[in-house]
Amino acid sequence: MRLLNACLLAMFLVASVFIMRSAGIATSLDRWLWEARFGIDHRPVSGEIVLVDIDARSLDSLDVWPLPRRLYGQLTDELVSFGVQDIVFDVDFSAASTPEDDLLFAEAIERAGNVSLAAFVQKSGATGSSGEVVNLPIERFLQNAWPVVVMVPMEDDSRIWRNLYGFEISGTSELSAAAFLGNYSGATSGAFGLDYSIAIDQLTRVSLVDVLEGSADPSVFAGKKVIVGASALELRDLFPVPVFDILPGSMIQALGAETLLQDRAMSERGELIALLFASAIVLLLLLTKVEGWSIKVGILLLAAISLETVAFGVQNLTPVLVPTASAYFLLFFAAVGVILRELGFHKVLSHIATVRRRNSERILGQVFDDSFDAIVVLDKDGKITAANQTARKLFRDETLTGKSARSVLPAALVEEAEIALGSDLNRQPVPQILTLADEGTKRKFVEFVVTRSDKTEVSTRRTGELETRAVACLTCRDVTDERESAERLKYLAQFDPVTNLANRNELERELSRKMKSANDSSQDLCLVQFAVSNFDQIVATLGFSYGDRVRQAIASRLKNHLSQQITWAAMSADVFAGVYLCEAADERDLSLIDGIREVIGEDYTVEGARISVQLKFGCAFSEGSIGPEDILKRSGNALAKVRRDDRKQIIRFEPAMDTALQRRRKLETELFKAIARDELSLAYQPLINLEDGSTFGAEALLRWESREFGTVSPFEFIPLAEENGYIVELGSWALNRGMKEARTWQKRLRLSVNISPVQFSRDNLVATVHEALERTNFPAELLDLEVTESLFIDESEDLNFHMEQLKSLGCSFSLDDFGTGYSSLGYIANYPFAKIKLDKSFVRQSLASKKDVAIVEAVLHLAKGFDMSVLVEGIETREQAQKLKELGCPMGQGYLFGKPMSSAEFDLLVAKAA
Ligand code: C2E
Ligand code: MG
Ligand code: MG
Repeated sequence: MRLLNACLLAMFLVASVFIMRSAGIATSLDRWLWEARFGIDHRPVSGEIVLVDIDARSLDSLDVWPLPRRLYGQLTDELVSFGVQDIVFDVDFSAASTPEDDLLFAEAIERAGNVSLAAFVQKSGATGSSGEVVNLPIERFLQNAWPVVVMVPMEDDSRIWRNLYGFEISGTSELSAAAFLGNYSGATSGAFGLDYSIAIDQLTRVSLVDVLEGSADPSVFAGKKVIVGASALELRDLFPVPVFDILPGSMIQALGAETLLQDRAMSERGELIALLFASAIVLLLLLTKVEGWSIKVGILLLAAISLETVAFGVQNLTPVLVPTASAYFLLFFAAVGVILRELGFHKVLSHIATVRRRNSERILGQVFDDSFDAIVVLDKDGKITAANQTARKLFRDETLTGKSARSVLPAALVEEAEIALGSDLNRQPVPQILTLADEGTKRKFVEFVVTRSDKTEVSTRRTGELETRAVACLTCRDVTDERESAERLKYLAQFDPVTNLANRNELERELSRKMKSANDSSQDLCLVQFAVSNFDQIVATLGFSYGDRVRQAIASRLKNHLSQQITWAAMSADVFAGVYLCEAADERDLSLIDGIREVIGEDYTVEGARISVQLKFGCAFSEGSIGPEDILKRSGNALAKVRRDDRKQIIRFEPAMDTALQRRRKLETELFKAIARDELSLAYQPLINLEDGSTFGAEALLRWESREFGTVSPFEFIPLAEENGYIVELGSWALNRGMKEARTWQKRLRLSVNISPVQFSRDNLVATVHEALERTNFPAELLDLEVTESLFIDESEDLNFHMEQLKSLGCSFSLDDFGTGYSSLGYIANYPFAKIKLDKSFVRQSLASKKDVAIVEAVLHLAKGFDMSVLVEGIETREQAQKLKELGCPMGQGYLFGKPMSSAEFDLLVAKAA
């Protein structure tokens, strides 16, 4: 196992080192180390070489560049006169200058006989073809001088680490300036490592200008090798190097020469040995049982230090650079491994765990404190160990924690907690409800659950030992609002919120209950429903709040002033119902209902307003074995019937009502199909000028020949259609059909069409009339629209507006059945009526009664005042016609002149009379 681990680790280390090497990181580190070692080592220069520096000072005082070649000539002569051994020019002479200057320099070279000139090969960017430009000194100079190579190779860290021995230029191998000056005699190819421990900055340097001006000390030069080169910044012959940062090309050549002179041509060697050494140490560590991370790391560090000492020693004593970086990386990774494994890994893990635990503790703490539920934790001694904010609020205690539960929590809660603490862990928690009622505060409902759990902690008595303690966790929630709304909902499901009487559903339940006890005691059940038939008007005139107040007042009278045996319910806004048991024999006795009527029917005073109610009663008894639904339906039928009956106030259900109701329902469904089945037609009744007996028009009257019921009277189906709104369709049909048929008459006569109030309220009557006029092309001025007084029940601005609009179309209005409806005559003047049609009831007894005559006279008088004409309906006898004529009545209608007839018959009748 240990071996396997060791192998795996070794593989990992080798891989890491390999990665470091290929990424170039090892090389960079090696170079850094070499530089450091060079920096520590210190070798003096040989003193064999002197540099004549074309420095900034020389450039300044000569003030010319390139220097005229004669100056180089002069320099050569000077140097020769100083007795120098060799002169190397690291200056570009590859181009000719003035012939005169070139000649002077060439002659000087010849005179000297020991001059070498710079030759170099440049990478050419411009030509791009061969890629190299050879710069050899011009032929003239080379006749008596040697070319020496002066380029230096640059490494991938952009610094100069090596110098060339020589280079092949134009087919001939030429020595480098360094090799030449360093007395090198080997092969003229390849390169050697520069020794940067040589203090090249100590090289003897003499300014060019000093030599030319004769101020230089000749003894400095005697017997020395001289290199002439530029260090002035502006000449840009500078290179980045280790240790010295920047050196001019000539200095690098000088360093190369020094390196060779001192036998220090550096070469890289020993990397493998270093690596093997490091590997051996690591393997040794892995395989031997060395304990303790610090010792291991110490050994690795020691190995590294030893290696470095050896590498430094080697570099110092021999011209060898040892690349130790890979070995160091190996040792370093091994050390990291040791630290992580032996110490760091566990600590890091435990640190991460601690941070996580703290985080979750913080979050849980926050959740605990912010929870909507109140949470209290109790220990076995009944002490509160934790309580959140909601709990503190709920139990109205600032701290809770640390206090005895009995002193601050309701007893019921504490008892539950104690039971939980005493039970085993498997106990299923059961939610319970607790009522909190403090003095002066609202009653509160709290739902709570107690759970038991075990807490493990370090014992306080014996150190290090773990102890398990049971704790009870109380989770409480204030459910007052939910409770109250549930109660409210429950209440609303049973009671009417305005009157607090039972609602319809509750009444049905009550009916079932009462029906059962009626059966048990052989009694009968009576269900009475009454409607406040003017409730809509009360609301319309006084507002909804008055409506509610009236209903409340009614409910209060029902509850307080009537037999407690009656259960009352509010069925809808205007209908109330009461149910009570009565003796079977009292069945026909409606005196109780009379009593109710008296109590409820009295006027009400609501906020100073006196309100009269109009009541209608319908009742049903539980004859035979009928269910609650049936009795409800029956009393409802009775109420519906009494509401339609203007004369009665109380109606008791009779079986015939069921049949009538069924007929109504059937009629209704049949009526909806009447237009499509073409069962409708119009009958026309002549309208007569009483003066001369001529026919000036006809009233169109709807006829329905039902497939199912035969001829149905308009008195039956028109109110039905008004109730369900179908009158809108019927009315529009009558308008269109009437005008279409009237257009076929030979004589241009007036046409009267009956319009129901519902058409005003539910239809866009103006558009309907307009479209019918357009479609039939009937002249609007011949159209009379007959409306009854019931139109004015809901007097509104809209009505007048609509009537005026219709009038502007060209048609006129007749007030139908005048005298049967509401007595107020005031409104007639407010509306644009052209004609009043006096109801047939006034001509009943041949106008025998003085009253009738008086009424007719009054109406005629009234109409005159309002500039309206009068037509009397229902004229059946000649006497009636005569009398009316005498009274000055201009128009009439009735069986005397013609019963309602078909359009063709009417047309024929008119044609005959003419
Ligand atoms: P109304 O508009 O007052 O029509 C006159 C009613 O009196 C007609 O009854 C007509 O047949 C009847 N009548 C006419 N002369 C005499 C008479 O000398 N003696 C007696 N006893 N009756 C006479 P009808 O056709 O049964 O119509 C009943 C009511 O139905 C109409 O009363 C009208 O209010 C309504 N109606 C008829 N057609 C339409 C219609 O197209 N639209 C609307 N909204 N209501 C209509
Ligand atoms: Mg009419
Ligand atoms: Mg009429």
